[in-house]
Amino acid sequence: LANRQMHPENTVVDINGVKVGGNKLVVMAGPCSVESEPQICEIAAEVQRQGAAILRGGAWKPRSSPYSFQGMKAQGLELLCKAKEKTGLPIVTEITNPAHIELFEGKVDCYQVGARNMQNFELLKELGKTRTPVLLKRGFANTLEEFLMSAEYIMAGGNEQVILCERGIRTYETYTRNTLDISAVPALKRLSHLPVVVDPSHAAGIYWMVEPLAMSAIAAGADGLIIEVHNDPAHALSDGAQSLTYEHFARTMGKIRAVAGAI
Ligand code: PEP
Ligand code: MN
Repeated sequence: LANRQMHPENTVVDINGVKVGGNKLVVMAGPCSVESEPQICEIAAEVQRQGAAILRGGAWKPRSSPYSFQGMKAQGLELLCKAKEKTGLPIVTEITNPAHIELFEGKVDCYQVGARNMQNFELLKELGKTRTPVLLKRGFANTLEEFLMSAEYIMAGGNEQVILCERGIRTYETYTRNTLDISAVPALKRLSHLPVVVDPSHAAGIYWMVEPLAMSAIAAGADGLIIEVHNDPAHALSDGAQSLTYEHFARTMGKIRAVAGAI
C-alpha cells in the first residue's frame, strides 16, 4: 500500500486542515516535552508566529533511563489541548501504548510513533484501525525496507494517512547523536508515495547543527520538518542540548524558506 508502483501520485496527509505532502513545506515545532501550561502555551504561540503549522510536544516520553523525566502523561495531553485551543495549531504527540488510543482519539490531530516503537507491531496495528494521521519515525537501526513495512502495518488496517519521518540512524560516528541519513529522503520519495519529513533535532543532538541539517533536508526534497524549540533550552526537562531558542528558530525558519524558494 505504501509502494509508489501501486500508487504513482503523491499522498497528501491532512492534519486537521494542514496538508503534508502537497506543494507547501510544513514545519512542526515545539518542545521535546510538555512541561507546564505556560511553557507549552508560550512556545505554541511563538512557533506559530514564526510560521510553524503544527505544534509538537511529548506527553509520554520513552526515555533511555527510567530515572529521567518520563513526561506529564495525561496532564501533558490536556495541556497540549489547551495550547491548541489558544492557537488553533493542530497537535502531534507521541503514543507509546495501544491502550492509550482511547484517551488520545479526538484530541490528538496526528499520532507520533517514536523511533523506539517503529516495530511495535501491536501499536501499529491498532493505529491502523483509527483514521487519525500517523507520523511514523524511522527506528535508529532500521533499514528503509523495514521502515516501509511498518508503514504498511498501519495502512493494512485501513489508515492510509501515514507520514514517514527520518530522524537519524546509529552509525559508528559519535560526534552527533545520530547520523542524519539524508539519502533516505530521495529513496523514500522514490519507493513510496507517502510524505517524508525530517527531524534534524534528534539527528544532530546539537542545537547549532539543526539549521544546516534542516536546510539540507529541504534541498533533498523533504515535505516538511519537525524541530524542537524551547523557551529555556538550558533548563529543558528533556533534549535541551538540541532545542532551539526562539531567536534561533526564527533564523532557521528564514533559512528554510530561502532554500524552499530556491528549489
Ligand atoms: C521525540 O520526538 O522527542 C523523540 C523521542 O523522538 P525519537 O523517537 O525520534 O527519538
Ligand atoms: Mn526529543
